Parts: sequence; structure tokens; C-alpha cells
Amino acid sequence: MLSKKLNVLLLEDNQKDAALIRRMLDGAFNGLFHLDHVVKLSEAINFLSLSQADLILLDLNLPDSRGLTGLTSLQTAFPHLPIVALTGAQDNTLGARALEQGALDCLVKDTIDSEKLVQAIRHAVERQHIQSRLAQAMEEVSSSNRLLKQVLSSISDGVVIVNEKGIIQSANTAAASLFNTHEEALVGRPLGFPATGTEKKEIQIERGGQPIHLEMHAVKLEREEAGATLVFLRNTTEQKQLQERLFNLAHRDGLTGLANRALLMDHLKKSIAGASRSNGLIAVLYLDIDRLARINNTLGHPMGNLLLKEIAKRLKVLMRGGDDTARVGGDEFAIILSDLTRVETIPNIAQKIIDRLGEPYSLEGGHEWGIALSIGISLYPNDARDPESLLEYAEMALHRAKRGGKNNYHYYSHTLQEGVKERLAVETNLRSALHEQNLFVVYQPIVSLTTGYIVGMEVLLRLKHENMGIIAPSRFIPVAEETGMIVKIGTGALLKACTQNKAWQEMGLPPLVMAVNLSAIQLKEANFLSMVNHVLRHTGLSPQYLELELTESLMQDTERTLRVLSSLHEIGVLSSIDDFGTGYSSLSHLRQFPFNTLKIDISFIRNMMNHQNNLNLVKTIITMAHNFELRTIAEGVETLEQLQTLQSLGCDEVQGFFVSKPLSADAATKRLSERKPFF
Ligand code: C2E
Ligand code: CA
Ligand code: CA
Repeated sequence: MLSKKLNVLLLEDNQKDAALIRRMLDGAFNGLFHLDHVVKLSEAINFLSLSQADLILLDLNLPDSRGLTGLTSLQTAFPHLPIVALTGAQDNTLGARALEQGALDCLVKDTIDSEKLVQAIRHAVERQHIQSRLAQAMEEVSSSNRLLKQVLSSISDGVVIVNEKGIIQSANTAAASLFNTHEEALVGRPLGFPATGTEKKEIQIERGGQPIHLEMHAVKLEREEAGATLVFLRNTTEQKQLQERLFNLAHRDGLTGLANRALLMDHLKKSIAGASRSNGLIAVLYLDIDRLARINNTLGHPMGNLLLKEIAKRLKVLMRGGDDTARVGGDEFAIILSDLTRVETIPNIAQKIIDRLGEPYSLEGGHEWGIALSIGISLYPNDARDPESLLEYAEMALHRAKRGGKNNYHYYSHTLQEGVKERLAVETNLRSALHEQNLFVVYQPIVSLTTGYIVGMEVLLRLKHENMGIIAPSRFIPVAEETGMIVKIGTGALLKACTQNKAWQEMGLPPLVMAVNLSAIQLKEANFLSMVNHVLRHTGLSPQYLELELTESLMQDTERTLRVLSSLHEIGVLSSIDDFGTGYSSLSHLRQFPFNTLKIDISFIRNMMNHQNNLNLVKTIITMAHNFELRTIAEGVETLEQLQTLQSLGCDEVQGFFVSKPLSADAATKRLSERKPFF
């Protein structure tokens, strides 16, 4: 510790004593000490303010200070400088007082030898060093305590210390405000929930009737007396509320507050997991409100929204709340029925929903509205075992239910899906058929009942499928109509028909009328008439050899149909009403349309022979048609008996398997070339 040279300042007026001390320090310990000597207190103070000293040897009897005044002055001016006092042998009490006042040692001048002196100096310096380290340490401790207090009061987490009985020993400001009180009031109170071990958990307390969520982190204080625990408390209420709001945003329908599709799927997944353990049954109901679009259109969207909210409210009550009821689309809802024991309860529930939701709604402004709805139902595990398929199947069943009329429910069945699958296959096929010539036409002869000769041919479409063989038009025409492909397909059929008819004429065969079926969609095309004109010009066929067949459904759009038919009439193209008797138009209704021909539907011909009523009906149709100057063709004639009956009723022409099935172009050419009557 004393390895470096020590600077000692000797304050001694007695030159003899001073010389003695210098000798003692220089002698045996040469080089260890550096001694400076002054004779007055004022000199000492001057010296110390300019130079460094490690210790003062202070004679207590100086010319400018007597007794302890010198000591006091030096201590005040240089508080950290160790001082060893020197007294005469007669000044015993003075030495003791000097020690009391903080001198580190006191030596009686006449008794010192060099060893004593050096030891005293060393001890004094050492003690001073330790004291100052201690003081520094004390300062550090108290400042870190202050720091700790500052930290504790500034952090937003509540911090309390509880004893083994759960009684609060101390608390910070944040803890106090968590409990709505001040720090002192908390001390001595029970914490109110267990916090003994080292653990982290969420708890809930009540403050002013409001629930407060706390995240508690308890740390057992190992070094403390038995059982003290430091408990950190964080108020997570706002965070919880925010989380809930975010959850709602992502999982709830904003308008009705019901679960959305994502949340429903989540619940369905959980229900399935439960049902698979307990062998339970789940039904998924898919609801669709039928007239919502109309309400939106007539009353405006705000009113439509109001209605949706009302519907949701009723559903919530019916289903007793919960997230098993969801809004999955604009006017679509889905419901999960879990824990079913019997399938038989499902229709009751579906009917209850239809009845309750069907009751009138009184909306703002005195509006009363009724709605109709349809429900599709799929079952776990019968139909599917995964949530996506169950919902999809329920939706499929819904579409089937809608076709069955309003306020209806329908179960999913495998055939439903088969139907959808087949439809899809047909559509795919149809698309490729458009490019690959898989669509072709056949020709069915129409025979005059007066001459027995072929006077016309009906062009009928066929679709070739690799695996399914030849697909009948009843299966692909509706698909073609729904997808709009019928426009292109229909034009193709017309072109083939006219080309073929012209070819037969050029072969010198007796001219005949080629009948081509038209779909309502084609008629709606703006360029329909110019298309027909173009085909006629392109093929060179005279218009009187083309007849376009229209069904009764077209009569609904009276104006347009009338316009188109009149134009065709002007061009010279013939037209016929197809499948007559199956729609809603009456004969008198037909009068306003310039048709040339009426085709009596196959259903009348089929039942003609066994029901007098039907026979009378056919008779009436033929008579009235003739009154309107319409040619009559009987469709689906399969027997000689039917043919003869129709002949006797004055029907003009027949078409049907009895005379000929539809023929390929080659077969038809061959049949025509025979130039033979059928009877
Ligand atoms: P449609 O216009 O009533 O055609 C007559 C249907 O009756 C044809 O069926 C024909 O094969 C069938 N048929 C003819 N004679 C008999 C018979 O003696 N007994 C029975 N049971 N059936 C007979 P196909 O070819 O299956 O056509 C069905 C329907 O598809 C047609 O009914 C027509 O509405 C539609 N269609 C066919 N080709 C076209 C077309 O090119 N365009 C449009 N838009 N529709 C077409
Ligand atoms: Ca037809
Ligand atoms: Ca027909």
C-alpha cells in the first residue's frame, strides 16, 4: 500500500524538533518519505493549496494557532487529509481531544522513535484510505437505494412484497393505483389472491365494479426471511380490450355482430373434433334470404341492412347466441348444430328457423316486410368429415332447395354432387368441343301426312364425349345457355343446317324445309338478325327453306320476340312454335305472333291413344291452328296407330321414331336419294 513515496507535511515551529523528525524519516527509511516543513498554520494552508500532501504531522502548539484550532482549520479546509497530532509530554488531555476530533493518531514528541513515527504515519494513511472507501461505498449504496425507489415509483407495473401469509409489506405507487388507494394504505392489507411461489399467470380483480385484468409475475425472494414474495402486477385490461377488438374485426361481421365465415370454420373444426371423439352428429345449415335484393332496391341499402340486423337478432335468440351462427355472405347465414343425437331433430329446427324468420318485420317508417328463405343442410359424418366440404355441400343443397321453391330446406345428397360434377364435366367438354369438332348435328325427317314424302328435317345437336359417349342435348344445352356458349354453338348449327340443305338442293334432291332450334339467349343478341342474314347469303340458301323453332318461354318478352319474328317474316324465313302445350301460352295468345308452324308436344301424342281427353285436346289444337293458318307437326310419333289417328285429325306432318330416328348427314342423304314415300 505504501509502495509509492509519501508526501508528509510537517507543521512544527520548533526547529530542533523538526530536525529530529526529519532525521527519523530520512534515516532508516531513506527514499520512502518526502518531507516538507512549515512553521505556521497559514504557511501550511498556503502550501496545501498549491502542493500535494498525503499526511500532515501537526504540532498542536503553534505560534498562530493554539490547541485544537489548527486541527479544526486544517480539517475544514482539507477534509480528506489524514492528520497525526504532535504534543509535548505535558499536554496529555490535548492529545486525547485531538483524537476525539478526528486526528488519526497523536504522538508525544519526547517519546517518539523513528519506528513509532513511521508506523503511526502508515496507519493513519491506511485508515484514511479505508474511511474514504467506506464513505464512497455508503454514498453508492444510498444512491442506488434512491435509484431503486425512483425506478419503482416510475415504472407502470405495480410492485408489492407480500409475506408468507399474503399480507402486503410494501408497495409502489403503481400498485397502489391498481387497487385505487395510496401506498401506505396497501401495507398490512391482504393481497387478495395467492402469490407465494415463483409463477406467472393472469388474474382478474374488480375495481369500482369494473373487471381489471392483471398479469401477475411472482418471484419468491430466496434471501428474505421465510416466504416473502415479490409480486409484479401489470394491468392488461386495455391490451385485452384491444385484442378483443382486433379479434372481432377479424372474426365478426361488422353489421350483425355474428361470427364471420373464418370464425365459423374455426368452430366447425372444433365441433368436428368433439364429435369424432363422442361419435356425435353435426348438421351445417346454409341459409339464404330470398328477397333481400328486392328490399335493397326498393327501400335502399340502409333499410336492407336494418332488416339483416333484425334477421340476425332473431337467429341469435333462436340459436341461443354463441358463435355457431355466422353471416357468411351478403344475405347468407350458416349455422352449426352440434351434439345432435338424432337426425330427426334437424327438420324441426330448420322449420322453426323458416317460421320464425318468415314472420313479418316492422322496419322504421312503418314498413312491414316479409322474407322467404331457403336452407341447405349437410351432415357430419354422413356427407363429409372436414369443415370446408361440409359448408360447401350445405351450400350446394341450398341451391337445390331454392329450385324447390321458397321456404324450403333440402339435404345434401351424393347425387347432388354427382350432378354438379357431371355438369362440370359437360362444361369442360363443351368448351373443348367448340375447338375440336366434337359437336355435330343429326337430321330427323319430317314427313307429310298427305303424301308420305319427307318435306322437312329438324337439325339436332349432339356432343361427343370420350368416356360418356354421345351426350344428349337435354344435358348440355342448359349448360351452354348458362355459360353463354349457346350463341356460338347455335350459329354453328344454323350454318351447318343451311350448308347441308343447299348441298342437297344442288344434288338435285327435292327441296325441303330445314328446321333449326333457337335458344332465347340467341334471340337476345343484338346482331341476331344480321347473323341469320349473313348465314343465308354465305350459303346461298333461299329463306323459305329455313324454319326457326322457338319455344313458348320466348313469348314472355313479347315486344322483342314480335320484332324479331316480324323481321324474319319479312326476310322470308319461316318460324314455328316448338313444344306447344307445355308452356303457358294459349292459342289465342299465339295469334299476335307471325308463326308459320305449330309443333304439338310429344307429351300429347304419347297419351293420345289411352285418354279420350288428350285425343280431344290434340284435335282442338289442330283445328285452331288451322284457323290461324298454322301448319301442324306432331312430334314423337312412335306407332302406326298414332300416325293414322293424326292423319284422321287432319294434322299436316309428323316427326318421330316411327318414321325415322335422327340420322347422320350421310344416312339422311341416302334416305333422301331413295325418293320413296314412308307410306
Ligand atoms: P325438340 O326440339 O323437341 O327436339 C325433338 C326431340 O325429340 C329430339 O331430342 C328428338 O330426338 C326427340 N324425338 C324425336 N322423335 C321421337 C320419338 O318418336 N320418340 C321420342 N321419345 N323422342 C323423339 P333431342 O335430339 O334429344 O333434343 C332434345 C332437345 O334439345 C330438343 O327438343 C331441343 O329443344 C334441344 N335442341 C336440340 N338441338 C338443338 C339446337 O341446335 N339448338 C337448340 N337451341 N336446342 C336444341
Ligand atoms: Ca325442336
Ligand atoms: Ca319439340
